[in-house]
Amino acid sequence: MTSGSFDSLDELRDFIGDCQRCPLAATRTLLVFGVGRRDADVLFVGEAPGRNEDLKGEPFVGAAGKFLDELLASAQLARSDVYIANILKCRPPGNRDPQPVEIETCTPFLEEQIRLIDPRVIVTLGRFATQFVLGTSLGITQVRGRRYEARGRAVLPIFHPAAALYDQTKRDVLVDDFKRLRVLLDRELADADDEGDGAPVLGSGRFGSASVVDDEPEQGTLF
Ligand code: URA
Repeated sequence: MTSGSFDSLDELRDFIGDCQRCPLAATRTLLVFGVGRRDADVLFVGEAPGRNEDLKGEPFVGAAGKFLDELLASAQLARSDVYIANILKCRPPGNRDPQPVEIETCTPFLEEQIRLIDPRVIVTLGRFATQFVLGTSLGITQVRGRRYEARGRAVLPIFHPAAALYDQTKRDVLVDDFKRLRVLLDRELADADDEGDGAPVLGSGRFGSASVVDDEPEQGTLF
């Protein structure tokens, strides 16, 4: 499969088919391709399906998904406005971390989804999505809440909603970061040409380099 092989998400989904390309095929129930608006301005990238998602074939339908819906509403967004996908399309047994070979095998499909959806902003949820999209090995705590660029798109790394379910401090941070998302999205929509030239390079990965284009905001300010 080469980049640009597909004209639509449906074609890509057909190509993936009843995927047997990695060992997760043996233990998954349903493959979770992704859902949402096909030309969404915002694409959320999570880690991998959990138990509920594996049974339903849809991302973020469990407790973390309910919290994500609340966070979306706080930014005046509905699920139908955005697209939600994951680094892996199949559930790792027992919700263990994605393995390098699984990420390697599965992420070309995510890259095609990004190309086809062509979002203005990619929001990476948690460590795995952030490290993949930004091509960094930095931890999520170090990078969250700032605007980066990768492949000419704005990227906003934030905590994974599941990590915040039972951690009030992380919940508060996520609520703040969704305020940042709202501001960032409004800015991106108002100024599609904002390129952030000259910002320091963060790292280099499949999405090319990622640059810091906004410093951590002062407390109480947005960007
Ligand atoms: N966690 C994720 O990262 N993705 C899902 O789809 C569900 C839970």
